[in-house]
Amino acid sequence: MSANKGANNQDNLSQVIADARRHMQDREKTYREKALKMYPHVCGRCGREFSGKKLKELTVHHRDHNHDNNPPDGSNWELLCLYCHDNEHQRYVDTARYSPEATPSGKQAHSTTHKPFAELKELLKEQK
Ligand SMILES: [Zn+2]
Ligand SMILES: [Zn+2]
Repeated sequence: MSANKGANNQDNLSQVIADARRHMQDREKTYREKALKMYPHVCGRCGREFSGKKLKELTVHHRDHNHDNNPPDGSNWELLCLYCHDNEHQRYVDTARYSPEATPSGKQAHSTTHKPFAELKELLKEQK
C-alpha cells in the first residue's frame, strides 16, 4: 500500500530523525523533571545536596543503563551528581569487561577416567 513513496523518502527520513531527536530531548527533559520532583535533590551515592544553580549537576541515572526504560513510577531512575554518575558508568563498563562469559572454560577435556595406554596394554597381552 506504500508504493508511491520515493521522491520524498529523503525528506521524510530527515524529518523522522529530527523528530526523534527532538523527542529524545523532550523525553530527557521530562524524565529529569519528573525524577527531580519525585526524589529529594540529593546524590544517591555521595549524599551531597543540590539546589538552585547547582541543581544542574545532579543528573538522572538509569539503574539498568537503558535510557529508553522510563517507568512512570521512577523505579529505574536514580539521582546522581556528575562525579558519582561518571563513577557508576565506569563501574558498569568494568563489570561488563570482566563478565564470567569471558573466562575460559575448557577444563572438561582433561578427563581422569581416560587412560590412553590401557588398551595398548591389553593389545600387547594378547600378542604374547
Ligand atoms: Zn555524588
Ligand atoms: Zn547513568
